[in-house]
Amino acid sequence: MAVPYATEPPPGHPRPGVLAAGLTGVAIAVGYLAVADPHDRTAIMPRCPLELATGLDCPSCGGLRMAHHLLHGQVRAAARDNLLLVALSPLLLHLVYRLARSLATGERYEVPRRPAAALLIVALAWGIVRNLARWPWKPTLG
Ligand SMILES: [Zn+2]
Repeated sequence: MAVPYATEPPPGHPRPGVLAAGLTGVAIAVGYLAVADPHDRTAIMPRCPLELATGLDCPSCGGLRMAHHLLHGQVRAAARDNLLLVALSPLLLHLVYRLARSLATGERYEVPRRPAAALLIVALAWGIVRNLARWPWKPTLG
């Protein structure tokens, strides 16, 4: 016999504390990213483990630098650091909004499977293409 809701609140139950903590974390991260330049190697920023281990760029490499450029209105420089993430920014913002709305209202939200699978395939293809020797837009560093 299953124990209902042993650790999870029932469906439809809002989680305002989780939402507030998440929004606070996002605000702190965005604020830091706006003032700290990820191109500066002395800035305290996480490094990509794949890039550190292999020298290859993963699909999200350059994402912090891209976000820094977008926060400063520099779209072309942002695209140079990670073209896919710039292209997907509206979708990613929509997903963050849906997650926040889900936490605020308690409504259930699941990312549709087919678009998620398509996104995974695109990300894997991007991870290959951006590491080709002839790919012109390599992520920039200071
Ligand atoms: Zn990476």
